[in-house]
Amino acid sequence: MPHSSPTRAWAELARGNERFAADQAQRPGADAEQRRQMSGGQRPFAVVLGCSDSRVAAELVFDRGLGEVFVVRTAGHVLDSAVLGSVELATIVLGVPLLVVLGHDSCGAVGAALKARQEGRVPGGFVRDIVERVTTSVLAAEHRGETTLDAIGREHVRSTARQLLERSEAVREAVESGRLGVVGATYTLADGLVDAVFSQGVAAMSPTGAIGATGT
Ligand SMILES: [Zn+2]
Repeated sequence: MPHSSPTRAWAELARGNERFAADQAQRPGADAEQRRQMSGGQRPFAVVLGCSDSRVAAELVFDRGLGEVFVVRTAGHVLDSAVLGSVELATIVLGVPLLVVLGHDSCGAVGAALKARQEGRVPGGFVRDIVERVTTSVLAAEHRGETTLDAIGREHVRSTARQLLERSEAVREAVESGRLGVVGATYTLADGLVDAVFSQGVAAMSPTGAIGATGT
């Protein structure tokens, strides 16, 4: 399948999410023949940088099969050099036209950062690295007068998308040239729907209007 445009790629994910949320998932692309056809190489049409939360599996949420979505997941979708390298591998080397940051409501990583902020104490071990990377979003949300967990989560999605554009020169240049679009979106655990909260270089609207950009 040839690479589609950023907007077509987002529409494809949006349609898959609508099927998933409506319990009409097709669960494509995992039989023996499809695996054999894909063994020579991959050609995903979207990169999803999502939270590691076990309830937010990217392929399931967007009803996609093997070989279609390049997935990078960390708790709280926080960035480090390996995550940025993985994103650049997919978007620049493989030429994937769409990069999605996928957060969700009731996120434990965001909750841990909010708790650390309220109590003035960060956790030990490497959990600290996660909390520290989310804390800047907690502060930014606080500055905007938003203090609820889910409002902070949405701010964290927007902040992660902006950071990808700021920190990766290759990603920024790909967006400026029109080869790549970036969408920040949040997933709601109970109803299964994804809602765009940030977009750049892509019209983040599904054909049905069920998923739409609500601001950048
Ligand atoms: Zn989470």
